[in-house]
Amino acid sequence: MIRQYELVERVRAYDPNTDEDLLNRAYVFSMKAHGSQKRASGDPYFSHPLEVAGILTSMKLDHGTIATGLLHDTIEDTVATYEQIDQQFGTEIAKLVDGVTKLSKLELQSDRTRQAENFRKLLLAMSDDIRVLLVKLADRLHNMRTLQFVKNPDKRRRIALETMEIYSPLAERIGMQDLKEELEDLSFAELNGDARDSIIKHLEFLRSEGGGLVDRITDQLESTIADAGVEAGVFGREKRPYSIWRKMEQKEISFEQLSDIMAFRVIVADVATCYQALGFVHAAYAMVPERFKDYISTPKRNNYRSLHTTVIGPEKHRIEVQIRTKEMDEVAELGVAAHWRYKQGVEDPDGTQYRWLRELLEILEHASDPEEFLEHTKLEMFQDQVFCFTPKGDLIALPQGATPVDFAYAVHTNVGDTCTGAKINGRMVPLRTQIRNGDQVDIMRSKAQTPSPTWESFVVTGKARSAIRRFIRNRQRSQYDELGRAMLKKAFSDEGHTFSEKKVHPALKALNYKTFEDLCVAVGEGHLTSRQILEVLLPDASLRTEEDKVVPLAKARGDKAKRKGSAVPIKGLIPGMAVHFAGCCHSLPGDRIVGIVTTGKGVTIHTIDCDTLENFVNTPERWIDVSWDMDRESDQMHAGRIDIVLTNSPGALSSLSTVIAKAQGNISNLKITNRTPEFFEMIVDIEVRDVKHLTNIITALRADPAISSVDRARG
Ligand code: MN
Repeated sequence: MIRQYELVERVRAYDPNTDEDLLNRAYVFSMKAHGSQKRASGDPYFSHPLEVAGILTSMKLDHGTIATGLLHDTIEDTVATYEQIDQQFGTEIAKLVDGVTKLSKLELQSDRTRQAENFRKLLLAMSDDIRVLLVKLADRLHNMRTLQFVKNPDKRRRIALETMEIYSPLAERIGMQDLKEELEDLSFAELNGDARDSIIKHLEFLRSEGGGLVDRITDQLESTIADAGVEAGVFGREKRPYSIWRKMEQKEISFEQLSDIMAFRVIVADVATCYQALGFVHAAYAMVPERFKDYISTPKRNNYRSLHTTVIGPEKHRIEVQIRTKEMDEVAELGVAAHWRYKQGVEDPDGTQYRWLRELLEILEHASDPEEFLEHTKLEMFQDQVFCFTPKGDLIALPQGATPVDFAYAVHTNVGDTCTGAKINGRMVPLRTQIRNGDQVDIMRSKAQTPSPTWESFVVTGKARSAIRRFIRNRQRSQYDELGRAMLKKAFSDEGHTFSEKKVHPALKALNYKTFEDLCVAVGEGHLTSRQILEVLLPDASLRTEEDKVVPLAKARGDKAKRKGSAVPIKGLIPGMAVHFAGCCHSLPGDRIVGIVTTGKGVTIHTIDCDTLENFVNTPERWIDVSWDMDRESDQMHAGRIDIVLTNSPGALSSLSTVIAKAQGNISNLKITNRTPEFFEMIVDIEVRDVKHLTNIITALRADPAISSVDRARG
C-alpha cells in the first residue's frame, strides 16, 4: 500500500504548491470511512481508493482530483454522506465524488455492441467535469488490475467486456493511449486468456532467441541518429499482446509473419527536427513501402501527432519507428490529463497546441484563460443529446429536448403511431415532457390511437415530425378524395350523366393526373374544378354558364327560350353591352347591385356594399344603376362565395359537401386559406339560384356540428 507521505510526495514532485493538508485529510477520511471493509482479494478496501489516487498521480493531476480518487467510493459504499464531504472538503470535491458515484451506478444493460457507442456518449454527457471521467477511468484500471480476485466468472467477463467496449475506447477518445492499451490488454486476458498466453510465450521465445534485441536495436538507432547530429531520446518496447493480437486479426496473418512486434520511439526537440530525424532513419535503413504516416501534418481526431514509419532496421529486423516531440509524446500518453502540465505554465505561444482540447470540451469562451480548463469546464461534447433507456435496457440517443413521442418514433414508427401515453422512471407523464439523461421511458400503446396533429408542436426529431405529417396528410388526402368524388358525382348528374371512374379516365392524361384518386383529391382541394373535367370529357355539350363568364347581353335578353335559360336577369343595362359579375363580391339575384362601365369589357356588376367600389368614387360617370329583374323566370345559377371555418375532424369535409348538396347547391370551387391542427379555414364557391338560396345553405351549414362558423364572403 502507498503510504500517506508517499502519496503527498508524488503529487509534490510535479506540483510543489499542492494542498498537502487537503490530501492528508482525504487520506485519513477515506481510511476511516472504509474501516474494516475488505476487497475480494482480502486486502483492506482502502487499498483500492489509494491505488486509484496513485494512478491519478501518474497522470499528474491536481490535488482536487487526487482527493476525489481517495474519496470516490465513500458515498456509495460507506456511511459517509455528500453533506459531510461538502462540509469537510468543499463543494467542488463533493460534486466530483458525486459525479463518480453516479457514473458507477450505470451499467451496460444490454450485451449488444451497437449500444456501446451510445453508452460511451452517456458517460461523457454525465461527466460534467472531465475529472469525473478521469477518476472513473483510474477506478476501472485498478479494478481491472485486480480482476482475477473476483470469484464469479460471469461477473469477471461482464466487467472485462464492458472495459473493452466502453472504457478503453473512451480512454482513446480523450487521447490517453497508454491507459487505453492497458485496459484493453487486461480485458483481453480475461476474455481470451489462451490467445494472450500464446502470444506472451512466443514473445518470450523471441526474446531469448534475440538476447536483448530490443536494447541492441535501441542503441543502434540512437547512434545512427546521433551521428547525423540530431539530439534525440530513443525508447524501445515490445508491443502489448492485445495490439499484436488485433493486428493478427486485422491482417489475417499468423504470428510468425508478423514482424513488427517491436515499437521504437524517437523523441526530439521540435517539429522541424522530427522530419530531420525521419530523413536520417530513412537514409540509414530501407523503408517499407506504404507504411509511412504523417500524423503531424494531419493529426488524428484525438489530436494524436507523430510520424510513423516502418524500416528494415538494425540486424535486418523490421521495426516500426515513431518520431515526435516531447509535447506530442505527452499528449499521446496522457491526452486530456496532459493539460495539467500546461496549467503549470508551460508555454503555448500560438495557442494552437491544445486547441483540440478546447474543441473537445467545447469551452471556446474560456480559450484565453487556461486556469479554467479543468476546474470549471463542462464536457459538452454530447450535451446536445440525451440518452435514455427502453424498459429492456436498450439505449436510445435523442436530441436535447426530445419527448416520449420522439422516443416512441425512434423505437419504431408503429410505436409512435399508436402511442397513447408514457411513463418515465415508472411514473405517468404528459407526452410533451422532456426526457433527461438516464431516464427509462415506457410507452403505452393502443391500436385505436392515431397520431395527434398537436404532437407536431413539441416533437424535436425529424423522424417523429415527418411520421406525424405523413399520417395527417394521408388522412386529409382521403377526406379530399371523398369530397372530390362527391363534387364530381354531382356535376355529372347535373349534366344528365351517371358518374363512374371509368368515364373520367380519359380526362386523366389531358389534365395531367396520374391516378383517378389524384384527380379526385385535386377537385376536393380546389386545384381543379369539376367543370374543367367536364369540358375535357364532353367538349361538345353546352355546359352551364360559369361565374364571370361573358354573356352577350343581346343574346341573353333576346332568347328566353334557350336551354337552361342563360339570360342575365338585370334591369337597366344598355342593349348590346357585355356583362360580367365581379369576382370580388359575387353578387346574387336579390342583392342590391351597381354596374361599373369598364372600357373594352362592358359592365361589371358589384354588390352595392362591395369594397372595390371605392376605386370608382372619383369617376361617377362610370356608375350605372342596375337591379335584378326578380320577376323574370330563370334557372340560371350564380356563384355565391362563403367563408367557412371547419373543425379538422374525420369526415368534416364530406359532411360539408353533403349539406350543400342536400340544399341543392353545387360546390364549384373550394380553397383552403389557412389550416391549423384544429381547424380549416376555407373559401367555398357555391352555385346557387339567388341570395335566398345561399342563405338557406348557410343556415343549413350552421346547423352542422363540424362547422365552426360560416359567413358570406364580402369583397
Ligand atoms: Mn472504486
